[in-house]
Amino acid sequence: MASIKEAQYIWKNGEFVAWADATTHVLSHALHYGTAVFEGIRCYGNDRGSAVFRLTDHMKRLVRSAKMIMMPLEYSAEELVNAALETIRINELKSCYIRPIVYRGYGAMGVNPRSAPVDVAIGVWPWDAYLGNTALEEGIAVGISSWRQRSANALPGAVKSSASYLNSGLANMEAQDHGYGEAVLLNEMGNVAEGSGENIFIVRDNVLSTPPLSDGVLEGLTRNSVMEMARDLGYVVMERSLVRTDLYSADEVFFTGTAAEITPINAVDNREIGKPGPVTRQLQHRFFEIVAGKAPEYDKWLTWI
Ligand code: PMP
Repeated sequence: MASIKEAQYIWKNGEFVAWADATTHVLSHALHYGTAVFEGIRCYGNDRGSAVFRLTDHMKRLVRSAKMIMMPLEYSAEELVNAALETIRINELKSCYIRPIVYRGYGAMGVNPRSAPVDVAIGVWPWDAYLGNTALEEGIAVGISSWRQRSANALPGAVKSSASYLNSGLANMEAQDHGYGEAVLLNEMGNVAEGSGENIFIVRDNVLSTPPLSDGVLEGLTRNSVMEMARDLGYVVMERSLVRTDLYSADEVFFTGTAAEITPINAVDNREIGKPGPVTRQLQHRFFEIVAGKAPEYDKWLTWI
């Protein structure tokens, strides 16, 4: 995973501060108790300028995440959209990753977070392919994790919380230690849930299937976009529970995510899926056309800088 390439300014609680000054105290609540929610968003430089993909939808998800864990957030999704746009502009970046975070800051300790202040920050920086440069072309091999997906009634997948990513980190480290590019987690019922930072799809006989939200997965915006793109291309798309053998026997398998974009999966637990198939390729092609601003019917998903 790439180290951060520094930009100049970070937006914090309504103001710009120099990158190096955007620090927080070691006794901040979030550091000790995982009390933070965040987003990962991408801005694509293209021939028409720079466009952020599904910016408003990401900020709405952030607002929902904060609400679900009862963290008061004094900015609306719209205000956060504007703050993110300003942060990209002031840093003069054409393409970048955008990381808004809402967290319980310094001032109180103890499990109950209510007396700790809520801080909000937005960082932006240049970021390349997440799962390696060849991943988009050749796909990656994945392994089913021995770690189960955090349960919906313990750390709900619908909340994009920092706390959840301990689960993701354990699964991802294990997968890499076993020589895989990424992990796939099963939920407590044994159904396929998602990757450590991606939603998952299978294709069988030209029908796409992806686990339903009720299986505890994050409501991924790339997932949502791929479902709409695929239906527009005439495919049947189903949200249904999958078991691990559905992955082994699929014609195609791929991940979706802001960082992973549409990453083909070429093997699952050493069962070969093969080279990226035609449906994955077609969707990848469409996706990259959209973020390049070359598919006017999907301009609704782009916010121009
Ligand atoms: N699942 C998990 C656990 C994730 O961390 C992510 C990345 N945010 C996704 C799915 C994909 O979501 P999105 O397409 O909105 O980036």
